[in-house]
Amino acid sequence: MKEKIPYKIYLEEHEIPTQWYNVRSDMKNKPAPLLNPGTGQPLKAEDLEPIFCKELVKQELDNDTKWIDIPEEVLTFYKMYRPSPLVRAYFLEKALGTPAKIYYKFEGNNTSGSHKLNSAIAQAYYAKEQGLKGVTTETGAGQWGTALSMACQFFGLDCQVYMVKCSYEQKPFRREVMRTYGAKVTPSPSDTTNVGRKILAEFPGTSGSLGCAISEAVEAAVTQEGYRYELGSVLNQVLLHQSIIGLEAKTALDKYGIKPDIIIGCAGGGSNLGGLIAPFVGEKLRGEADYRIIAVEPASCPSFTRGKFAYDFCDTGMICPLAKMYTLGSQFIPSPSHSGGLRFHGMSTVLSQLYHDGLFEARAVEQTSVFEAATLFARAEGTLPAPESSHAIRVAIDEALKCKETGEEKTIVFGLTGTGYFDLVAYGEYNSGKMKDVIPTDEDIAASLAKLPKVD
Ligand SMILES: *Cc1c(COP(=O)(O)O)cnc(C)c1O
Repeated sequence: MKEKIPYKIYLEEHEIPTQWYNVRSDMKNKPAPLLNPGTGQPLKAEDLEPIFCKELVKQELDNDTKWIDIPEEVLTFYKMYRPSPLVRAYFLEKALGTPAKIYYKFEGNNTSGSHKLNSAIAQAYYAKEQGLKGVTTETGAGQWGTALSMACQFFGLDCQVYMVKCSYEQKPFRREVMRTYGAKVTPSPSDTTNVGRKILAEFPGTSGSLGCAISEAVEAAVTQEGYRYELGSVLNQVLLHQSIIGLEAKTALDKYGIKPDIIIGCAGGGSNLGGLIAPFVGEKLRGEADYRIIAVEPASCPSFTRGKFAYDFCDTGMICPLAKMYTLGSQFIPSPSHSGGLRFHGMSTVLSQLYHDGLFEARAVEQTSVFEAATLFARAEGTLPAPESSHAIRVAIDEALKCKETGEEKTIVFGLTGTGYFDLVAYGEYNSGKMKDVIPTDEDIAASLAKLPKVD
């Protein structure tokens, strides 16, 4: 008989990966290049370097190098909160009465409360290396802004955060964590940038969106000497850094000879999902193994399931490059939902290409059913999950319940990207029965897609 799997599979410190894995190296169909919106030509390093740090541009454009060394300073920082545990959800399995074996990779064990710190510390490191004064960024729910504030503070960099207005108002505590770590936080859209003033004039009273905040942060970076812009999701470089999640998860599973049948992650811009599935998709791409992989997105912002695979702007202000991705249109402003981290109109180009090529499936779930799953998980497993993460929980539970019907003992692994301690307004709404599901109509989506830029 095999030994009992522990509740938490921890790796030793020396088992933390020392290289990131670049899944693009194993893709036959590479993600489409970013295009200059003015000329329609693929962007080269020199086009991107005024906006992003030099080394990060290199990583962004590198579709070939399979393994990229994690700098020593970044590895040292990782040791503060990594390796993250892979937890066997025995209590959840029991609560569901399922024969399925459920595991979750828990990334909420750091003050930023999410996986975003994995990329924030890398991005701050490369900014410091380049001798910059500081960086600008946007934040939706606040997790990325918090992570980057922590990382910048560690390396003595200035950090300016444009925070989506509805989150700024819903989550004052997030704002204060960022300020505690020394960041300057501005609600977006704001009157501090040209693009912000334009959006405010066009959509007075808007609750903001990630797309608007990105436009403002980019403008702030290019108009200040010694500053660059950093982004917490969507980009190839971010998926690269987040591969640490999947590499650790795979090492932990391999240690006990466990092969997952289903791997599930929530998808906003795609970074945690891309990171979690990277080594597994790599095996699929190389024909070495097969897994069923499910991306879960909110029904209020369904890029994969109802969007179009097309070139689009990454931001509402239409100043950022064009990316070929599953998109709802850069002018799509999702209804205010409690999963701020999933409120982005587009998706990583890497994941978009993989999805297009059939390497994984996608599912959209409604907010109330997400909070029902979150509550069930919190009660069974103890940890209060982030609303974003709870999208993955929802589908993990649904799959486990299917196993209950069929009697199959499938192994399910999902990404628990963060904790929900700053999301208690949302939990409050759910607990008092006031939460609503707002789903865009086909007309809403068609109207937004009609404004896609003409490329191809
Ligand atoms: C930002 C965030 C997400 C979504 O972002 P991805 O880039 O799609 O991973 C998911 N969960 C949490 C907790 C987040 O903070």
